[in-house]
Amino acid sequence: MLAEAGGVAAEGNLPRVVYLGGLGRSGTTLLERLLGELPGVCSAGEVVHLWQRGIADAERCGCGEPLPGCPFWRKVGEVAFGGWANVDVRRIAELRSAVDRSRHIPVLAAPVLYPSLRRGLDEYLGYYLRIYTAIAEASGCPVVVDSSKHASLAFCLRWRAELDLRVIHVVRDSRAVAFSWTRQVNRPESASDPYMPTYSPARAAWLWNAQNGALQLLAREGVPTLRVRYEDLVTAPSATLASIGRFAGIAASGADLDFMGTDASGRWANLSAAHTASGNPMRFATGKIIIRSDDRWRTAMPAAQRRSVTALTLPLLARYGYAGHAA
Ligand SMILES: [Zn+2]
Repeated sequence: MLAEAGGVAAEGNLPRVVYLGGLGRSGTTLLERLLGELPGVCSAGEVVHLWQRGIADAERCGCGEPLPGCPFWRKVGEVAFGGWANVDVRRIAELRSAVDRSRHIPVLAAPVLYPSLRRGLDEYLGYYLRIYTAIAEASGCPVVVDSSKHASLAFCLRWRAELDLRVIHVVRDSRAVAFSWTRQVNRPESASDPYMPTYSPARAAWLWNAQNGALQLLAREGVPTLRVRYEDLVTAPSATLASIGRFAGIAASGADLDFMGTDASGRWANLSAAHTASGNPMRFATGKIIIRSDDRWRTAMPAAQRRSVTALTLPLLARYGYAGHAA
């Protein structure tokens, strides 16, 4: 627990945190929405972007309200910090830059940290632990899902042994991921930054190797990790959620899964509004959504790009069971 002046809440009883890791465009937003429908689970979105995009830039919560004005997040801010006005977003950005970067992963993976990094890390994690605790209190849920995705934040979180951290390593075929990153995607929550970035196929392949390799290293370091393939999630969502439930101690069987079903139009899920901070535009979807595999890359991806991404990512493609589809 942190001793804090100024009436700021201590970390309190930490919830279990289910962290969704993986490269963007791998289905983490769909997975977090489905997990958020399970009893006792609060999906909070990409908490790493809460500070700048949610608090400072007042981008929209998944419920549609500007995040600082959303009743749920207002309560979280009150519980965690006595109000968002007490949060120094610039300081959090400084700390993130000092400790939570992909290039710091080799240092964060070491058994001992040098003292200045340890101090920065403890201060940085203090914000996260207070936020997780406040999300659990405001939602009444003992399990918080953080879909921040970046391996580096998971490497930071592992340094707080008292945190019950379970990582879901979400993988998707590298060709599908690379194809998706070449395409423009709107960010409807932001007027000043209306599109997500795009990457060349080679850049996306490099990022895919780096993120997935880092998450495998995290598992080898002893952090409880379950690998989930996007393709299994969309073709067998109930079975996938049940296996995540067994791994993460979440009720996900029988009537818990009644929000999903299959009819003539395919597999569907009935989603309620979720108070998510940042993420793919799919986080705004409510009501009945169709769950289907996005396979546009198979027909629309130029053959040269496909061959290049296959070659650049072949070792992990094979490891994850995609090599049978290599082209
Ligand atoms: Zn909201």
